[in-house]
Amino acid sequence: MSSPITIALAGNPNAGKTTLFNHITGSRQHVGNYPGVTVDYKEGRCRVDGHDCRIVDLPGIYSLSPYSEEEVVARDYLVQERPGVIVNIVDAANLERNLYLSCQFLEMGVPMVIALNMIDVAHDRGIDINHKKLSELIGVPVCPIVARSGKGVKEMMDAAFALGSASQKWQPTHISYGDDLDAVMLEIEQVINNEAFLTELYPARWTAIKYVEEDEQHLRQGDGADASVSTLLQEKVAEVGSHLSQTLGAEPDAMIADHRYGYIKSILRQNVVHRTYDQNRLYTSDKIDKVLTNRFAGPIAMMLILFGLYQFTFTYSELPVAWCESFFGWLNGMASTLLPDGYFKSMITAGVIDGIGGVLGFVPIIMFMFFGISLLEDSGYLARVAFMMDRIFHVFGLHGSSVMAYIVSGGIAGGCAVPGVMATRTLRSRKERLATILTVPFMNCGAKLPVMALLIGTFFSQHNAMYMFFFTVLAWVMALLVAKFLRSTLLRGTATPFVLELPPYRFPTFQGLLIHTWERTWQYIKKAGTVILAISILIWAMMTFPGLPQDQQESFQQQRQQILAHGNGKNGSEELAEGQPLADEAWQEELLLVDAVEAEAALRYSVAGKIGMAIEKVSSLAGFDWRINIALLGGFAAKEVIISTLGTSYSLGGVESDDVASLSATLAAEPDWGPVRALSLIIFVMFYAPCFVTVACIVREAGSWRWGAFSMIFNTVFAFSLSTMIFQIGKVLLG
Ligand code: GDP
Ligand code: MG
Repeated sequence: MSSPITIALAGNPNAGKTTLFNHITGSRQHVGNYPGVTVDYKEGRCRVDGHDCRIVDLPGIYSLSPYSEEEVVARDYLVQERPGVIVNIVDAANLERNLYLSCQFLEMGVPMVIALNMIDVAHDRGIDINHKKLSELIGVPVCPIVARSGKGVKEMMDAAFALGSASQKWQPTHISYGDDLDAVMLEIEQVINNEAFLTELYPARWTAIKYVEEDEQHLRQGDGADASVSTLLQEKVAEVGSHLSQTLGAEPDAMIADHRYGYIKSILRQNVVHRTYDQNRLYTSDKIDKVLTNRFAGPIAMMLILFGLYQFTFTYSELPVAWCESFFGWLNGMASTLLPDGYFKSMITAGVIDGIGGVLGFVPIIMFMFFGISLLEDSGYLARVAFMMDRIFHVFGLHGSSVMAYIVSGGIAGGCAVPGVMATRTLRSRKERLATILTVPFMNCGAKLPVMALLIGTFFSQHNAMYMFFFTVLAWVMALLVAKFLRSTLLRGTATPFVLELPPYRFPTFQGLLIHTWERTWQYIKKAGTVILAISILIWAMMTFPGLPQDQQESFQQQRQQILAHGNGKNGSEELAEGQPLADEAWQEELLLVDAVEAEAALRYSVAGKIGMAIEKVSSLAGFDWRINIALLGGFAAKEVIISTLGTSYSLGGVESDDVASLSATLAAEPDWGPVRALSLIIFVMFYAPCFVTVACIVREAGSWRWGAFSMIFNTVFAFSLSTMIFQIGKVLLG
């Protein structure tokens, strides 16, 4: 038997591809990642008429011009993989807009079946589509379906299979683009055919269109294949281009788009679409939008809904988070009792379990957050939020869709930049997306909150809430200003317009929500889980090795023995086994003090301690000593670590390292500490390098390690400048 045919699902975002894909493949699917890009694809298998088929869910796209990564991916897939047939999913309720993409598939000539989806929605809106007539006019099978219930899917798959197994050549549909362009197109096509220019990849007609559209990616491919032919074609296009702009004042690519829409309109006018609804009746969606996007009621409703989402996430995730914590606590306890003392045990407990636990501990929060976001997204509300915020964000070179990423990262208080970075996937422009990715770590995520709470509580206790509010606002202001800065320097470029057409509200299906939630959560676990182990062991090692030299260890050991000897009323010079019962509680405390002094000495002596002391010269400009430096270094693993590390290095006299109340008392009593240093530290923690899980995510999502490095360096320099300014001014003002 021949190899199974491949059926690729293609269509606009939100046309129902994923729903259809899940319906066809059931559980026989897996998610992959296109090599070299951040766009995911799903592949699955199914049987049609007893034959095995491969199904691929392509990314949602509006056009085959490479404006976004998704579009490039979809296009490359069609050309390189040559699927037997594509199923173009078209939203019947938005036929005209969806057919723009179909039109380009027709022009490319790839064997295609149109799946006219959401017939139910169209029907409710009083739109009746004559699919037989449509099929006749455009010359490809058109099958009405309801992806959600599976109605019509079998017939559609049969049609697709029939077309796919016929394995015909690609046959481009000719659309007229007006006399001038048609003429030059014919000329170009002739050259292409004569020279066999790229003809093993594309039909000549398609290459001709791409040259007229001046599609950069295609031109580059052409230059690579045969530079002289490519130049000749470009000259011809330039000629007709200048002619067109003189006579009609239009660019060739705009002319082509106009004629495509003209072609679609002329088809739809031929009794394809019947509207049966009463003209005066408002759609339900429009009615809801009267309130939810109203100039005054809209923002209030938005605040309430976002606050609700936030409340929902943190209320319901509290318990599972506690479970996670106690599970890892239990695991740590088990490891401590089972393993023999030594470096290995220390590495497993402090390095491996604490590190992985720190990341997996976020999973419940992330799952609930993603569930809420999936709900807002699938119902269509997220598009309204973006729509309302777009104007403000535009001023700063961002896009309405950036708002959600900011909020997820902790824009209201307590979130996480990791899902925040991933939430930028809804942004279509790469530059706007990068500017958003690079600024979401400025939000006050859940891990920064304990640090801020500690310092505010200790040094600004009278105005607790006010300071918290101030720091939240400050985070937004700084993020927007930096975004503006990036968008006018490194990431300069035009803003993408917000597509005003809002999708209709829909009731999301529970299954759909679960699938979306799980997909996102799994990505987080996978991405965070792969790097965390290595780095968390590295940081543990840096704070542990090389360990105190032999003679110092011995001197501490001697001190202990002296104390023990004293405690038993014996002569210090006499040998004593450790662990022998002590006469007095006071001696026990003295022993702990020696332990703490040794711990501090070991920390100073460790690699992290050396680094901390080495950068003290510079860091003291912002008021940070070596202990704070170590804590900040540890904070790169996870910002919560700042507290525990500060605790460790200040825990003289046996104060428990994670005991925040006592740490607060310790800091308040330290002569070096004061409001100025605290403020400088808060600001630094807010804005310095994102934690490494976030950095790993930035690298993944931005597609290059350079952006990860950039965000670490840029943010740290930025934060340090602010902190230095605050500390120096504060010093002058206060004395
Ligand atoms: P994709 O972006 O193309 O993958 O679209 P999805 O499969 O995620 O679908 C977008 C939304 O449309 C989801 O909320 C689906 O539940 C909904 N949907 C998909 N197909 C249908 C359909 O035939 N009828 C109705 N009423 N809703 C549908
Ligand atoms: Mg999808």
